[in-house]
Amino acid sequence: MTNPLYDALFAPQAGQDRPFMTLPGGDQLSAADFHDTLARFANALRALDVGPGERVAVQASKSPQMLAIYGAAVASGAVFLPLNSAYTPEELEYFITDCGARLLLVDPARISALTPLAEKLGVRLESLGEGGSFDALADTLPASFTPEPRSDDDLTALLYTSGTTGRSKGAMLSQRNLLSNAEALVDLWRFTSEDVLLHALPIFHTHGLFVASNVVLLSRAQMIFLPKFELDQVFAFLPQATTMMGVPTFYTRLLGDARLCRETVDHMRLFVSGSAPLLAETHREWSERTGHAILERYGMTETNMLTSNPYEGARRPGTVGHPLPGVSLRIADPESGAALPQGETGMIEVRGPNVFQGYWQMPEKTAAEFRADGYFMTGDLGMIDDQGYVNIVGRAKDLIISGGYNVYPKEIELVLDDMPGVVESAVIGLPHPDFGEAVVAVLVPDKATPDISAIESGLSDKLARYKQPKAYIVLPELPRNTMGKVQKAALRNDYAAYFKESAQ
Ligand code: ATP
Ligand code: MG
Repeated sequence: MTNPLYDALFAPQAGQDRPFMTLPGGDQLSAADFHDTLARFANALRALDVGPGERVAVQASKSPQMLAIYGAAVASGAVFLPLNSAYTPEELEYFITDCGARLLLVDPARISALTPLAEKLGVRLESLGEGGSFDALADTLPASFTPEPRSDDDLTALLYTSGTTGRSKGAMLSQRNLLSNAEALVDLWRFTSEDVLLHALPIFHTHGLFVASNVVLLSRAQMIFLPKFELDQVFAFLPQATTMMGVPTFYTRLLGDARLCRETVDHMRLFVSGSAPLLAETHREWSERTGHAILERYGMTETNMLTSNPYEGARRPGTVGHPLPGVSLRIADPESGAALPQGETGMIEVRGPNVFQGYWQMPEKTAAEFRADGYFMTGDLGMIDDQGYVNIVGRAKDLIISGGYNVYPKEIELVLDDMPGVVESAVIGLPHPDFGEAVVAVLVPDKATPDISAIESGLSDKLARYKQPKAYIVLPELPRNTMGKVQKAALRNDYAAYFKESAQ
């Protein structure tokens, strides 16, 4: 028996002295160096009795060690569980209790702050990275390891969702879920061992870990591994890169920098964006400035990647492209689940080898999100256009029902974003005594005092009356999480009493 994910992503191959990772200071790690660390870590997991199926939770800064512990977990059959580095000890308590981790690895600097929590929860705490106790143990162990046999269906990672629409849920991902997706993406995006990916995404999230890192590992490419997206560093390393994967804010920040021009990116072969909608405007500006069309794709923690704009062929701004090979995607009536005709908006439902095994210890929730025929309800509303491209219309939870009408926030946001003086917008529904929910526009203006009445009258001939915002809220910026996702639940929460207050 083999360990398919280990064999595909991590097993040593000929030419192990090739460079694998370039670090911010310019140091390079070879594939052999990385594999040595991975094997020692796998031995350390075994020494700490973290066997197949046990959860190893990691809340650590982005580093080669953090990627190596992922490989070590795959090799030893343990379940890898990366956690957002921004989580507070209170949040950590929820995740550690929920997942029942045997081992928690954190940065050396956090050991003393987290010791009481680890003792309370009965989880073994060790530090990972330069000077870490886990690394010190691993250093005493051999740099070779025989991987545990695993099968395609074995649980290999537990990845918590971003918590945009509620409390994060642990998505159970099998070897097949991860491997089938990496294979599809390498093929689709033409990754080879000649590629160098500029990797500035966090690796506690599906995007930086199961898209970016897995694609590099599977194709035996190289990556420039930056702890965060910092413009000076990105410009310094761009000349060595062939590809970049990012969230929309990476692209808007690059566009805001005068150093971005054709010469700085002419040699690149691919720019990919995902995790949040890329504005058509950003797509257009990027093409004009650089001559490259950003490739937008769509996915989620539970399903890995689902769709991608084509590598060859037109990349349609404002769309997320076509379903990946092997993925079946349909648009269905959210209530009945009946498939809807092309052009209509409904729930995006998917099935395929990439779709997760269910939510950790939430059998009812899992059952509620799957249709009887095995399709998973993504919670995203979408439409397939006349050329077969998937358009994301928004999240089902963000749909506004105002006076009995369904209002799709994105339709209004697109009109608002085009208005002079509006930098960006988020449209939300707030409780209202007459309408049930009222449409409210949250605006980021390009100057301190925007002309709301001009915006209002600009909308009046573009949108039906029931879609026109009943109120405007002006903010200096929209609340976003680390992946650039607008936190609409937070906005709804902050302004929940808006119409109650204004009625008084
Ligand atoms: P939670 O499920 O806990 O509420 P979340 O859905 O934000 O959080 P993730 O799995 O990180 O957690 O994000 C997946 C979601 O991100 C998708 O369901 C979709 O709404 C959004 N998304 C991802 N890529 C795109 C894209 N290219 N365009 C629009 N939305 C996208
Ligand atoms: Mg989600």
